[in-house]
Amino acid sequence: MTALNSRFEYVKGFERDDRCLPNSWIIVRVDGKSFSKFAEQHGFEKPNDKLGLELMTRAAVSVMEELRDICLAYGHSDEFSFVFRKDTSSYNRRSAKIMSNVNSLFAAAYVFYWEDIFGPTKLKYPPGFESVIVVYPSETNLKDYLSWRQAELQTKNLYNTLLWTLIKKGNKTETEAHEILRNSTQKSEILFREFGVNYYNEPDMFRKGTTLIRKLIPSKKDNKLRQYIIPLHCDLMGEEFWKENPEIVGLKSLQVCHRTIHTNIFVVNRPNNVCDKNDNDSNMRMETSH
Ligand code: ATP
Ligand code: MG
Ligand code: MG
Repeated sequence: MTALNSRFEYVKGFERDDRCLPNSWIIVRVDGKSFSKFAEQHGFEKPNDKLGLELMTRAAVSVMEELRDICLAYGHSDEFSFVFRKDTSSYNRRSAKIMSNVNSLFAAAYVFYWEDIFGPTKLKYPPGFESVIVVYPSETNLKDYLSWRQAELQTKNLYNTLLWTLIKKGNKTETEAHEILRNSTQKSEILFREFGVNYYNEPDMFRKGTTLIRKLIPSKKDNKLRQYIIPLHCDLMGEEFWKENPEIVGLKSLQVCHRTIHTNIFVVNRPNNVCDKNDNDSNMRMETSH
Protein backbone atom coordinates (compact mmCIF):
# COMPACT_ATOMS: atom_id res chain seq x y z
CA MET A 1 0.00 0.00 0.00
CA THR A 2 1.32 3.44 -0.88
CA ALA A 3 1.69 6.20 1.70
CA LEU A 4 -0.89 8.19 -0.21
CA ASN A 5 -3.38 5.34 0.07
CA SER A 6 -2.91 4.78 3.78
CA ARG A 7 -3.39 8.48 4.49
CA PHE A 8 -6.96 8.33 3.21
CA GLU A 9 -7.86 4.80 4.22
CA TYR A 10 -9.24 5.79 7.61
CA VAL A 11 -12.48 6.85 5.86
CA LYS A 12 -13.35 3.19 5.40
CA GLY A 13 -13.82 3.02 9.16
CA PHE A 14 -16.89 5.21 8.78
CA GLU A 15 -18.73 2.29 7.10
CA ARG A 16 -21.09 0.60 9.56
CA ASP A 17 -21.52 -3.13 10.06
CA ASP A 18 -25.01 -3.67 8.68
CA ARG A 19 -25.07 -7.46 8.64
CA CYS A 20 -28.53 -9.01 9.13
CA LEU A 21 -29.22 -11.11 12.20
CA PRO A 22 -28.08 -14.71 11.58
CA ASN A 23 -30.46 -17.64 11.19
CA SER A 24 -33.39 -15.44 10.16
CA TRP A 25 -35.34 -14.85 6.99
CA ILE A 26 -34.36 -11.70 5.14
CA ILE A 27 -37.12 -9.98 3.16
CA VAL A 28 -36.66 -7.22 0.64
CA ARG A 29 -39.85 -5.49 -0.48
CA VAL A 30 -39.62 -3.45 -3.67
CA ASP A 31 -42.37 -0.90 -4.40
CA GLY A 32 -42.88 1.32 -7.44
CA LYS A 33 -42.28 5.02 -6.79
CA SER A 34 -45.38 7.10 -7.59
CA PHE A 35 -46.94 4.27 -9.56
CA SER A 36 -50.41 5.79 -9.36
CA LYS A 37 -49.05 8.42 -11.74
CA PHE A 38 -46.99 5.87 -13.72
CA ALA A 39 -50.08 3.67 -14.21
CA GLU A 40 -52.12 6.62 -15.42
CA GLN A 41 -49.42 7.89 -17.78
CA HIS A 42 -49.09 4.46 -19.35
CA GLY A 43 -52.82 3.87 -19.70
CA PHE A 44 -53.02 0.96 -17.23
CA GLU A 45 -56.46 -0.54 -17.03
CA LYS A 46 -58.19 0.09 -13.69
CA PRO A 47 -58.29 -1.39 -11.16
CA ASN A 48 -55.97 -4.15 -12.48
CA ASP A 49 -53.87 -4.03 -15.60
CA LYS A 50 -52.99 -7.60 -16.49
CA LEU A 51 -49.90 -6.72 -18.53
CA GLY A 52 -48.65 -4.44 -15.76
CA LEU A 53 -48.88 -7.33 -13.33
CA GLU A 54 -47.22 -9.72 -15.78
CA LEU A 55 -44.30 -7.33 -16.17
CA MET A 56 -43.90 -7.11 -12.37
CA THR A 57 -43.82 -10.93 -12.28
CA ARG A 58 -41.29 -11.11 -15.13
CA ALA A 59 -39.02 -8.66 -13.29
CA ALA A 60 -39.35 -10.67 -10.07
CA VAL A 61 -38.47 -13.92 -11.91
CA SER A 62 -35.38 -12.19 -13.24
CA VAL A 63 -34.30 -11.32 -9.69
CA MET A 64 -34.83 -14.95 -8.61
CA GLU A 65 -32.87 -16.25 -11.61
CA GLU A 66 -29.91 -14.19 -10.48
CA LEU A 67 -30.19 -14.56 -6.69
CA ARG A 68 -30.56 -18.27 -5.99
CA ASP A 69 -30.99 -17.92 -2.22
CA ILE A 70 -34.42 -16.34 -2.72
CA CYS A 71 -36.80 -19.16 -1.88
CA LEU A 72 -40.07 -17.32 -2.45
CA ALA A 73 -41.34 -14.04 -3.85
CA TYR A 74 -44.80 -12.58 -3.46
CA GLY A 75 -46.25 -9.56 -5.25
CA HIS A 76 -49.28 -7.57 -6.27
CA SER A 77 -49.94 -4.06 -7.63
CA ASP A 78 -46.56 -2.29 -7.77
CA GLU A 79 -44.80 -4.30 -5.06
CA PHE A 80 -42.84 -7.56 -4.75
CA SER A 81 -41.39 -9.13 -1.60
CA PHE A 82 -38.36 -11.40 -1.89
CA VAL A 83 -37.67 -13.94 0.85
CA PHE A 84 -34.08 -15.16 1.29
CA ARG A 85 -33.39 -18.53 2.92
CA LYS A 86 -32.69 -18.15 6.62
CA ASP A 87 -29.18 -19.57 6.17
CA THR A 88 -28.18 -17.36 3.23
CA SER A 89 -24.63 -16.09 3.24
CA SER A 90 -25.29 -13.88 0.25
CA TYR A 91 -23.12 -10.71 0.50
CA ASN A 92 -22.13 -11.89 3.96
CA ARG A 93 -25.72 -10.92 4.92
CA ARG A 94 -24.90 -7.22 4.50
CA SER A 95 -28.27 -5.52 4.28
CA ALA A 96 -27.39 -2.54 2.09
CA LYS A 97 -25.70 -4.80 -0.47
CA ILE A 98 -28.61 -7.26 -0.55
CA MET A 99 -31.28 -4.58 -0.76
CA SER A 100 -29.58 -2.47 -3.38
CA ASN A 101 -28.84 -5.49 -5.54
CA VAL A 102 -32.45 -6.72 -5.45
CA ASN A 103 -33.77 -3.22 -6.11
CA SER A 104 -31.49 -2.50 -9.06
CA LEU A 105 -31.98 -5.91 -10.66
CA PHE A 106 -35.74 -5.50 -10.37
CA ALA A 107 -35.76 -2.00 -11.86
CA ALA A 108 -33.44 -2.98 -14.70
CA ALA A 109 -35.53 -6.07 -15.53
CA TYR A 110 -38.76 -4.05 -15.46
CA VAL A 111 -37.36 -1.77 -18.15
CA PHE A 112 -35.61 -4.61 -20.03
CA TYR A 113 -38.81 -6.66 -20.42
CA TRP A 114 -41.18 -3.70 -20.96
CA GLU A 115 -41.26 -4.05 -24.75
CA ASP A 116 -41.68 -7.85 -24.63
CA ILE A 117 -44.84 -7.41 -22.62
CA PHE A 118 -46.25 -4.05 -23.72
CA GLY A 119 -45.26 -4.26 -27.40
CA PRO A 120 -45.87 -0.96 -29.18
CA THR A 121 -46.87 0.95 -26.01
CA LYS A 122 -43.70 2.90 -25.28
CA LEU A 123 -42.20 3.43 -21.86
CA LYS A 124 -42.50 7.20 -21.33
CA TYR A 125 -39.88 7.69 -18.61
CA PRO A 126 -37.62 5.54 -16.39
CA PRO A 127 -39.65 4.22 -13.45
CA GLY A 128 -38.16 4.32 -9.96
CA PHE A 129 -38.45 1.69 -7.23
CA GLU A 130 -37.73 1.90 -3.53
CA SER A 131 -37.11 -0.93 -1.10
CA VAL A 132 -37.15 -1.85 2.54
CA ILE A 133 -35.30 -4.77 4.12
CA VAL A 134 -36.62 -6.56 7.19
CA VAL A 135 -35.38 -9.60 9.10
CA TYR A 136 -37.80 -12.13 10.58
CA PRO A 137 -36.42 -14.61 13.11
CA SER A 138 -39.37 -17.00 13.44
CA GLU A 139 -41.44 -19.07 11.05
CA THR A 140 -44.59 -17.47 12.44
CA ASN A 141 -43.19 -13.98 11.74
CA LEU A 142 -42.42 -14.97 8.15
CA LYS A 143 -45.88 -16.47 7.55
CA ASP A 144 -47.57 -13.50 9.22
CA TYR A 145 -45.57 -11.09 7.06
CA LEU A 146 -46.82 -12.76 3.87
CA SER A 147 -50.37 -12.97 5.25
CA TRP A 148 -50.18 -9.26 6.01
CA ARG A 149 -49.20 -8.40 2.42
CA GLN A 150 -51.95 -10.65 1.04
CA ALA A 151 -54.55 -9.24 3.45
CA GLU A 152 -53.67 -5.75 2.26
CA LEU A 153 -54.15 -6.80 -1.34
CA GLN A 154 -57.54 -8.33 -0.54
CA THR A 155 -58.84 -5.22 1.20
CA LYS A 156 -57.56 -2.85 -1.48
CA ASN A 157 -58.65 -5.01 -4.40
CA LEU A 158 -62.23 -5.42 -3.20
CA TYR A 159 -62.40 -1.67 -2.60
CA ASN A 160 -60.95 -0.85 -6.02
CA THR A 161 -63.08 -3.41 -7.85
CA LEU A 162 -66.25 -1.83 -6.47
CA LEU A 163 -64.88 1.69 -6.97
CA TRP A 164 -64.20 1.14 -10.68
CA THR A 165 -67.43 -0.79 -11.23
CA LEU A 166 -69.37 2.15 -9.78
CA ILE A 167 -67.49 4.49 -12.13
CA LYS A 168 -67.52 2.34 -15.27
CA LYS A 169 -70.91 0.63 -14.97
CA GLY A 170 -72.72 2.81 -12.44
CA ASN A 171 -71.83 6.11 -14.13
CA LYS A 172 -70.64 7.63 -10.86
CA THR A 173 -67.87 10.19 -10.61
CA GLU A 174 -64.75 9.15 -8.70
CA THR A 175 -65.78 11.37 -5.75
CA GLU A 176 -69.31 9.90 -5.66
CA ALA A 177 -67.93 6.38 -5.82
CA HIS A 178 -65.53 7.01 -2.90
CA GLU A 179 -68.43 8.47 -0.91
CA ILE A 180 -70.57 5.36 -1.50
CA LEU A 181 -67.65 3.13 -0.49
CA ARG A 182 -66.95 5.14 2.63
CA ASN A 183 -70.34 4.20 4.03
CA SER A 184 -70.49 0.58 2.83
CA THR A 185 -69.50 -2.47 4.81
CA GLN A 186 -70.84 -5.00 2.30
CA LYS A 187 -68.81 -4.36 -0.82
CA SER A 188 -69.06 -7.79 -2.42
CA GLU A 189 -72.85 -7.81 -1.83
CA ILE A 190 -73.24 -4.44 -3.61
CA LEU A 191 -71.13 -5.73 -6.50
CA PHE A 192 -73.38 -8.76 -6.87
CA ARG A 193 -76.75 -7.13 -6.17
CA GLU A 194 -76.30 -4.01 -8.25
CA PHE A 195 -73.96 -5.13 -11.00
CA GLY A 196 -74.27 -8.93 -11.12
CA VAL A 197 -70.51 -9.24 -10.47
CA ASN A 198 -69.47 -12.16 -8.29
CA TYR A 199 -66.23 -10.93 -6.69
CA TYR A 200 -65.07 -14.50 -6.12
CA ASN A 201 -65.12 -15.11 -9.88
CA GLU A 202 -62.61 -12.31 -10.47
CA PRO A 203 -59.21 -13.71 -11.62
CA ASP A 204 -57.11 -15.28 -8.86
CA MET A 205 -54.16 -13.18 -9.98
CA PHE A 206 -56.10 -10.04 -9.03
CA ARG A 207 -57.58 -11.38 -5.77
CA LYS A 208 -54.60 -13.32 -4.44
CA GLY A 209 -51.49 -11.82 -6.05
CA THR A 210 -48.59 -13.84 -7.47
CA THR A 211 -46.37 -16.19 -5.48
CA LEU A 212 -43.17 -17.45 -7.10
CA ILE A 213 -41.56 -20.64 -5.83
CA ARG A 214 -38.89 -23.02 -7.12
CA LYS A 215 -39.53 -26.64 -8.07
CA LEU A 216 -37.67 -29.40 -9.87
CA ILE A 217 -39.52 -30.86 -12.84
CA PRO A 218 -38.42 -33.98 -14.74
CA SER A 219 -37.96 -33.41 -18.44
CA LYS A 220 -40.22 -35.55 -20.65
CA LYS A 221 -37.28 -36.09 -23.00
CA ASP A 222 -34.60 -37.50 -20.71
CA ASN A 223 -36.23 -37.43 -17.26
CA LYS A 224 -33.47 -35.13 -16.03
CA LEU A 225 -34.53 -32.78 -13.27
CA ARG A 226 -34.45 -29.08 -14.04
CA GLN A 227 -35.18 -26.15 -11.81
CA TYR A 228 -38.16 -23.95 -12.60
CA ILE A 229 -39.73 -20.87 -11.09
CA ILE A 230 -43.47 -21.35 -10.89
CA PRO A 231 -46.04 -18.57 -10.48
CA LEU A 232 -49.01 -19.45 -8.29
CA HIS A 233 -52.09 -17.45 -7.38
CA CYS A 234 -52.87 -19.06 -4.07
CA ASP A 235 -53.79 -18.38 -0.45
CA LEU A 236 -50.83 -17.69 1.80
CA MET A 237 -52.96 -17.30 4.91
CA GLY A 238 -53.56 -20.61 6.64
CA GLU A 239 -51.45 -23.74 6.61
CA GLU A 240 -52.26 -25.40 3.29
CA PHE A 241 -49.64 -23.61 1.20
CA TRP A 242 -46.92 -24.34 3.79
CA LYS A 243 -47.89 -28.01 4.03
CA GLU A 244 -47.72 -28.36 0.24
CA ASN A 245 -44.36 -26.58 0.03
CA PRO A 246 -42.44 -27.54 3.19
CA GLU A 247 -39.03 -26.87 1.63
CA ILE A 248 -39.56 -23.10 1.75
CA VAL A 249 -39.20 -22.82 5.50
CA GLY A 250 -37.62 -26.22 6.14
CA LEU A 251 -34.28 -25.64 4.35
CA LYS A 252 -34.76 -28.97 2.59
CA SER A 253 -33.70 -29.51 -1.00
CA LEU A 254 -36.08 -28.45 -3.72
CA GLN A 255 -39.08 -30.67 -4.26
CA VAL A 256 -39.80 -32.55 -7.45
CA CYS A 257 -43.11 -31.46 -8.90
CA HIS A 258 -45.02 -34.22 -10.71
CA ARG A 259 -48.30 -32.40 -11.10
CA THR A 260 -49.33 -30.94 -14.40
CA ILE A 261 -48.96 -27.20 -14.24
CA HIS A 262 -51.43 -25.13 -16.21
CA THR A 263 -49.50 -21.92 -16.06
CA ASN A 264 -46.47 -20.22 -17.52
CA ILE A 265 -43.33 -21.41 -15.84
CA PHE A 266 -39.80 -20.13 -16.09
CA VAL A 267 -36.80 -22.36 -16.59
CA VAL A 268 -33.76 -21.44 -14.54
CA ASN A 269 -30.14 -21.84 -15.54
CA ARG A 270 -30.32 -21.14 -19.25
CA PRO A 271 -28.53 -18.23 -20.83
CA ASN A 272 -31.04 -15.46 -21.55
CA ASN A 273 -33.83 -17.76 -20.42
CA VAL A 274 -33.94 -19.40 -23.83
CA CYS A 275 -35.55 -22.80 -23.59
CA ASP A 276 -34.84 -25.99 -25.40
CA LYS A 277 -37.82 -26.38 -27.69
CA ASN A 278 -37.62 -30.19 -27.49
CA ASP A 279 -38.10 -29.92 -23.77
CA ASN A 280 -41.39 -28.21 -24.18
CA ASP A 281 -44.62 -30.06 -23.65
CA SER A 282 -48.13 -28.85 -24.19
CA ASN A 283 -48.72 -27.88 -20.58
CA MET A 284 -45.46 -26.12 -19.96
CA ARG A 285 -44.63 -22.90 -21.65
CA MET A 286 -41.21 -21.75 -20.61
CA GLU A 287 -41.76 -18.06 -21.00
CA THR A 288 -44.67 -15.70 -20.48
CA SER A 289 -47.20 -15.46 -23.23
CA HIS A 290 -48.23 -11.96 -24.21
P1 ATP B 1 -45.55 5.47 -3.47
O1 ATP B 1 -44.48 6.14 -4.24
O2 ATP B 1 -45.72 6.04 -2.10
O3 ATP B 1 -45.44 3.97 -3.43
P2 ATP B 1 -47.69 4.98 -5.33
O4 ATP B 1 -48.44 5.94 -6.20
O5 ATP B 1 -46.78 4.03 -6.03
O6 ATP B 1 -46.93 5.83 -4.24
P3 ATP B 1 -48.91 2.68 -4.03
O7 ATP B 1 -49.63 2.64 -2.72
O8 ATP B 1 -47.61 1.95 -4.11
O9 ATP B 1 -48.77 4.19 -4.47
O10 ATP B 1 -49.93 2.08 -5.07
C1 ATP B 1 -49.58 1.79 -6.37
C2 ATP B 1 -50.62 2.33 -7.34
O11 ATP B 1 -50.16 2.04 -8.66
C3 ATP B 1 -51.97 1.64 -7.23
O12 ATP B 1 -52.82 2.34 -6.41
C4 ATP B 1 -52.47 1.67 -8.66
O13 ATP B 1 -53.15 2.88 -8.89
C5 ATP B 1 -51.23 1.69 -9.50
N1 ATP B 1 -50.90 0.40 -10.15
C6 ATP B 1 -49.76 -0.31 -9.98
N2 ATP B 1 -49.77 -1.44 -10.72
C7 ATP B 1 -50.96 -1.46 -11.34
C8 ATP B 1 -51.57 -2.39 -12.25
N3 ATP B 1 -50.96 -3.51 -12.66
N4 ATP B 1 -52.81 -2.12 -12.69
C9 ATP B 1 -53.44 -0.97 -12.31
N5 ATP B 1 -52.91 -0.06 -11.47
C10 ATP B 1 -51.68 -0.30 -10.99
MG1 MG C 1 -45.79 2.50 -4.99
MG1 MG D 1 -47.53 -0.18 -3.63
